[in-house]
Amino acid sequence: MSGARKVAVCVTGASGYIASWLVKLLLGRGYIVKATVRDPNDPKKTEHLLSLDGAKERLHLFKADLLDEGSFDSVVDGCDCVFHTASPVLFSSTSDPQAELIDPAVKGTLNVLKSCKKFPTVKRVVLTSSMASVMMNGKPLTPDVVVDETWYSDPLIAEKHKLWYLLSKTLAEEAAWKFAEGNGIDLVSINPGFVIGPLLQPTINLTVEMIQNLITGKAVPASNYRLIDVRDVALAHIQAFEVPSATGRYCLVSHAAHISEVLEIIQQLYPTLHIPERCEDDNPLLLPSDPQFQVSKEKAKALGIGFYPFEVTLKDTIESLKEKGFLNI
Ligand code: NAP
Repeated sequence: MSGARKVAVCVTGASGYIASWLVKLLLGRGYIVKATVRDPNDPKKTEHLLSLDGAKERLHLFKADLLDEGSFDSVVDGCDCVFHTASPVLFSSTSDPQAELIDPAVKGTLNVLKSCKKFPTVKRVVLTSSMASVMMNGKPLTPDVVVDETWYSDPLIAEKHKLWYLLSKTLAEEAAWKFAEGNGIDLVSINPGFVIGPLLQPTINLTVEMIQNLITGKAVPASNYRLIDVRDVALAHIQAFEVPSATGRYCLVSHAAHISEVLEIIQQLYPTLHIPERCEDDNPLLLPSDPQFQVSKEKAKALGIGFYPFEVTLKDTIESLKEKGFLNI
């Protein structure tokens, strides 16, 4: 970072899996990080952040909830960039998708953007969107199809198939672009696939839990996955702010694989590991069918993302699960 002034940035939902890595990388680059959490008094949500290098000097925690209007104002004030990552991640069925997923995702995003509009220090907003809001537009998905940033998921299709997480991310991104365009906000979105990689937080999050389940023999959807390393995702957020020409959306997928291929690679990495017989969960995570397709890396590469090799990501995920006590192998 050049110049004498230390640049302040905001990270919403800072205790989350992806956001914790983002906070770590931002502190490593010398930024002042104003981080929001729902409960600053919960050590499980804060201790891993407070112990990061640079945290003592440059990390400031704030309490904020996506559904409390104005609760981001004091955090965003004085920041050059706002990284909006907070949003509920829930793939299982829910009795109230509106309250549990859609309202926090959509109203929360608008709430954060309204705060950004109030403070002219904010030069860019980086939104953590998802491949969920990219891949489902009704066009056929087959192994030779390459999905890219020009694809937009159709909320009607998501609703029809009761894919509530996919719907929440699609509607949130749609609302964000509309608000940004109408209010002169420089918005960039990062659209990762299924994120795995080492954990910083002491709890296990939903996507890394899939790897734990796979190894311990619990039911895992026998789907195709489009995977990406959490460290690539965090870096992409920073590049989306630091690279002046960054614009629009960035799909982030390093490796597309069926769950059986993921299992094979784990077995190669840990030849003596006995993976129990699994009963397969027929409910796919995100799509009503189980399509295999590719995702373009071109735009992400132009942003400077190198992509961790998939074997490294998988090994680092498993080693992290062992170290945190989530796997005993
Ligand atoms: P995570 O660890 O569950 O993080 C979600 C974060 O959102 C948590 O910090 C959570 O706060 C916060 N949050 C949820 N509801 C909130 C509310 N009402 N008010 C304030 N904060 C709230 O999951 P993650 O995987 O890191 O996900 C982070 C972002 O990446 C999300 O936007 C997600 O949609 C997106 N994403 C994730 C993946 C993936 O594979 N993991 C892929 C694509 C996109 P608490 O800690 O207080 O619960």
